[in-house]
Amino acid sequence: MRKQILVTGGAGFLGSHLCEKLIKEGNEVICVDNFFTGQKRNIEHLLDYKNFEVIRHDITFPLYLEVDEIYNLACPASPVHYQIDPVQTTKTSVSGAINMLGLAKRLKIKILQASTSEVYGDPEIHPQPEHYKGSVNPLGIRACYDEGKRCAETLFFDYYRQHNLSIKVMRIFNTYGPNMHPYDGRVVSNFIVQALKNENITVYGGGNQTRSFCYVDDLIDGMYKFMHSENKFTGPVNLGNPNEFSIIELAQKTIELTNSKSKIVYKPLPQDDPMQRKPDIGLAKRKLNWQPKIKLEEGLKKTIEYFENLLKEEAI
Ligand code: NAD
Ligand code: UDP
Ligand code: UDP
Repeated sequence: MRKQILVTGGAGFLGSHLCEKLIKEGNEVICVDNFFTGQKRNIEHLLDYKNFEVIRHDITFPLYLEVDEIYNLACPASPVHYQIDPVQTTKTSVSGAINMLGLAKRLKIKILQASTSEVYGDPEIHPQPEHYKGSVNPLGIRACYDEGKRCAETLFFDYYRQHNLSIKVMRIFNTYGPNMHPYDGRVVSNFIVQALKNENITVYGGGNQTRSFCYVDDLIDGMYKFMHSENKFTGPVNLGNPNEFSIIELAQKTIELTNSKSKIVYKPLPQDDPMQRKPDIGLAKRKLNWQPKIKLEEGLKKTIEYFENLLKEEAI
């Protein structure tokens, strides 16, 4: 069925891939973005579609539209960016969520929240299952994002209980792929851009900290399946790739796949940087029949190709 779908943060990395999928399925897609970390080039190719519309808007302000479904993705995701204006980051997660929930409540429609593995903080349990309540420092430099996202989850579940709203809360683990901002500051884009330019690869701390990297196509597939799952399955559900790598392994793999002359250099570990992260995806497997298919090497190759093209176009 053709739907009117609102995607907030639609010009960002994940949002642009989601908009493309929804447009190609014939839906009317409205992308709302304030272009804080989003890029016009991510959605330029979608502007030719008659069923695509873009609105420059900051979701911390009310928004009145008529739609059938909402994907709430607006929020900077990279620590470097969400720490530039931490107050705005919390406002986006909290006031932004209230506005989007208010919109969903008025229209009596389903709303999906892009939450994050950061709700687990620096986890003491490994891998992280959904019932783990997390270990977040509420005063640290990551708190604007972590606590903002935690509060957004609270708001989603309160609108669900208090207003009978149909909600979907997904916890996304580190995802990478084309359309990441080249200077977004996240590890995969940093390492690839540094390697392609034969610059030093900046490993923070000893590089023994781990992350589990999911390729964007797998993540979007999971997000879509979750939105279309039975109504009573509200989540929270973890979506990510459980294959865990240390940051030093990622640096070495990136150098190898790009044939780079880059050297690894060590920089201080940022405050509150989690030591390990890996999703327990048992729930997603059972409820959504979903699991990632794309291996790190394959995904990195596709991502490297994207940044190589940007380099050729002198866009980076
Ligand atoms: P991104 O920074 O590329 O995209 C976020 C988009 O939101 C950008 O286009 C930005 O301009 C827009 N935005 C920010 N504040 C806004 C506001 N107040 N009003 C309107 N638009 C606003 O990040 P991403 O990786 O695409 O992440 C998308 C969502 O997924 C975020 O909510 C993020 O927290 C969540 N997430 C992503 C990851 C990941 O690994 N990519 C992991 C966990 C959670
Ligand atoms: N809101 C919005 N669009 C709508 C409906 C509501 O942006 O179509 C905002 C509105 O600014 C409000 C917020 O969502 O402050 C929360 O709405 P809700 O109805 O839950 O609460 P209330 O209006 O009572 O504050
Ligand atoms: N990191 C790194 N070098 C970089 C960027 C990040 O070593 O140039 C590390 C960072 O300290 C963290 C991991 O890579 O341990 C993942 O960082 P990212 O910002 O991508 O996401 P996070 O999972 O920390 O939110």
